[in-house]
Amino acid sequence: MTQPAFEDPWRRLYDGIARVLLDNRLEPTPTNYAMAHRYLTAHDRAYNGSIERAIKSGGLSAASAAAMIAERSVELSAADLTVMIAEAQARLTEVDEIVTQSRIAAHDYGEALESNAAQLEAGAPVAPVVNTLVGLTRSMIERTRGVGDQLRAACDEIRQLRDSLAEAQDQANKDALTGLPNRRALDARLAAAMDNARLTGEPFSIAICDIDHFKAFNDRFGHQIGDEVIKFVATSLARDSNERLFAARYGGEEFVILFEGAGAAMAKAEIDRIRVAIAARDLKVNATGQTLGKLTFSAGVAELAREDDGSSAMLKRADVALYQAKRGGRNRVVIG
Ligand code: GH3
Ligand code: MG
Ligand code: MG
Repeated sequence: MTQPAFEDPWRRLYDGIARVLLDNRLEPTPTNYAMAHRYLTAHDRAYNGSIERAIKSGGLSAASAAAMIAERSVELSAADLTVMIAEAQARLTEVDEIVTQSRIAAHDYGEALESNAAQLEAGAPVAPVVNTLVGLTRSMIERTRGVGDQLRAACDEIRQLRDSLAEAQDQANKDALTGLPNRRALDARLAAAMDNARLTGEPFSIAICDIDHFKAFNDRFGHQIGDEVIKFVATSLARDSNERLFAARYGGEEFVILFEGAGAAMAKAEIDRIRVAIAARDLKVNATGQTLGKLTFSAGVAELAREDDGSSAMLKRADVALYQAKRGGRNRVVIG
């Protein structure tokens, strides 16, 4: 039996990855695999340059592979997060100490007041006791002022840390090239949308969109223009995003759209509208006026079905439909 055509590029990529790993005596770990996969697929000149330099200067180590993949990753590295968390913990310990010290000082002040009051009650002369009380109160006021300043400084730092953590979280969910939510954000949103649709009984559909013949486009016009085209398609697909329509970059030139409250037909109509609008255009590079010609994409749509046991089952159906759209001649949307 002949192999389906789509398996050939997969096989080539698979063999290529194996070659990179074996030549460099790298274990087939997820990180090493990701490094080799990116090296062979992303056409990132700077990244490939550093890999080739590492190979020339004595081979790739697992550590350098990890560093290179971490550098490229939009997700925060574990080391970045460890530093942030350690800083936050140090500031919180500081605040805790300030509060404990203040509590001790307030307790001492209360005891001193009580003992002075007792002396007054016992008939001690008023003037010296009042003097002591005034002194005690003054030092308490000064101490409170100092504590206030320390607390304010610690709170400022905590606020800054909170902002950097929020920014880090934002970054971790965003694709660097298009600014669209990335796969990690999509996974979370898809699971939540499926749960919600099951709960409410509302329809829910997804679409996987993949640019047609993008490899040829890249080869002909270069990677940079390829990137611009990915951004253009991303913007077109995400233009109508709202709280019920969520568009994410799924991979290289693939996007996933979630349609909450919409059945497959409605989702298809929506994607078709964008597809027709893009296909009707003659693309041009604004800065240079260079014409790029036509660009199309294909999509596979799947509606949530009772038998879907998880998001991967639904994605799989959309992917099979996408494959049918490609086989059927591209520039079309197929419901799976
Ligand atoms: P098909 O119509 O069957 O989808 O053909 P295709 O050429 O689009 O499919 P294929 O998956 O073989 O090629 C996708 C190409 O997309 C491979 C890679 O060179 C390119 N690519 C992936 N990510 C990026 C990226 O971030 N920027 C650019 N410029 N190209 C990318
Ligand atoms: Mg693809
Ligand atoms: Mg493609």
